[in-house]
Amino acid sequence: MRLTFAPALALVMLAAVGGAQTKPAKTLDIYFIDTEGGLATLYVSPTGESLLIDTGNPGGRDTDRIMEAVHTAGIQQIDHLILTHYHVDHVGGLQELANRIPIKHFIDHGPSSEPREQVPGFDAMYAGMIAKADHTVVKPGDKLPFAGTNVVVVTSAGKTLKTPIPGAPGAGMPNAACADFKPRDESRVDPDNHQSIGVVISLGKFRTVNLADFTYNREQELMCPNNPIGTVDLYTTSHHGIDQSGSPALVHGLRPRVVVMNNGARKGGAVPTMRTLYTSPGLEDIWQLHWAYAAGVELNSPSLFIANVEEAATLANALLNPPGTFGQGRGAGAGPGAGAPPAPAPPTGAAPNPPAGGAPGAAAPVPSGRAGGGGRGGHTGPAFLIKVSAQADGSFTVTNTRNDFSKNYPAPK
Ligand SMILES: [Zn+2]
Repeated sequence: MRLTFAPALALVMLAAVGGAQTKPAKTLDIYFIDTEGGLATLYVSPTGESLLIDTGNPGGRDTDRIMEAVHTAGIQQIDHLILTHYHVDHVGGLQELANRIPIKHFIDHGPSSEPREQVPGFDAMYAGMIAKADHTVVKPGDKLPFAGTNVVVVTSAGKTLKTPIPGAPGAGMPNAACADFKPRDESRVDPDNHQSIGVVISLGKFRTVNLADFTYNREQELMCPNNPIGTVDLYTTSHHGIDQSGSPALVHGLRPRVVVMNNGARKGGAVPTMRTLYTSPGLEDIWQLHWAYAAGVELNSPSLFIANVEEAATLANALLNPPGTFGQGRGAGAGPGAGAPPAPAPPTGAAPNPPAGGAPGAAAPVPSGRAGGGGRGGHTGPAFLIKVSAQADGSFTVTNTRNDFSKNYPAPK
C-alpha cells in the first residue's frame, strides 16, 4: 500500500512546487488588461520573465488592474517595460505602478515629439526613473532581450522596419492589400502616435504584433509595397480600434487568425475598423476588452468574446437604437477619414444594478460599481481581462476571464 501511495504523493508535491514557483507549461502568456481604452498588456515568457507594454491611465484604477494580472501571473517585478509613446492612456499609470513593483528596464522611442506633456511633470519624473534603471532607446530592427522568445522592433520614432524579419512566414513578399491604399489627412492626429514603438513577439511558430497607436499612413510605409513582418497569429488592434489606424494594408497584410481589441466602451470599435477586421482573409475571431458602442449590434463580437460588457439596461438601449450596420446605413462605404456613426446616448444617471446573478444569459455576474454610461473615464470596480496562452508549435488558447469561455486555436498543419 505504501508503494502505491508514495508515487502519488510525490506527484502531488511536485505539482504544488510547480504551481508556486515556476510555470507548469512552456507557454508565452499574454494578459490583455482592461484600461478602458488605454494600453497595458503583460507578456510572460516560458521562463517567467515579464514584459509590460504601457501602463494605462493615471488614478490608480488601471494600476490596480495591472497588479491583479501581475499577481495572477506570479511575477515579482517588471523585467522590461516598453513605453510606446507619451500619451496619457499609455504612460499615465507609470508613477503609480513604479510605486508598487520594481521596474528593471525601460524601453522608449526617445523624447516625446510633442511640446506639451499629457501627464504633467512626466518628463522630470521619468528622467529620475531611467537614471536608476536600465534604459534603451530603440529603432526598427532592434531585438529586445526577453527570455525564450524573439522580440523585434518594427516601428519607433516614426521609422519603420525595412528588412524582412528572417524566417518569418511571408516576410519580404509583396503585399496585395497595398493596391487600394489611399493616404489620409492626418494633420489632426496627435503627433506622438506616429512615434509609437511597435513590436513583433514570437515563441517558436507563434507570432503576435502590437503597434500601439501607430497611424494609418505610417502603416502603409511599414507594410508597402513589401511586407517585412509576414503573417501573424494574433493582432492587437492598433490605436484601440479607433479609425485612425488599422488599415487594410496593415491588417490584411498581416492576415491574423485572431484579433484582440483593446478598446473602451466609447473608444474603438469604429465601423470602418471593424469592417476591415471582418473582411481580413483567414480571420477566425475578434475578442474585445469591451462592448463598443460605435460598433453597434452588428459589429460587436458575440458577448462570449467580450471581457467587459455593459449593464443590461444600458445594452438594451443600444439594442433598440443600433448605431451602425455592416452592409448599409451610415457605416457602409465609409471612405478613409470617415468617423464612426454616433453612439446612442446612455441613460442619464447611474444605470440600475443588474438583478442578482447577473444579466440574463451571462455566464458570470456583471460586476456592480460601474459608472453609468461608461463615459470617457470608463467604469471602476472589477474588470476582466483576456488571457492568451501560446505554445511554440503555433497553437494558442484565448480565455475570457469574465465567463471562463476558452477557445483553442490548433497549430496550422
Ligand atoms: Zn492610445
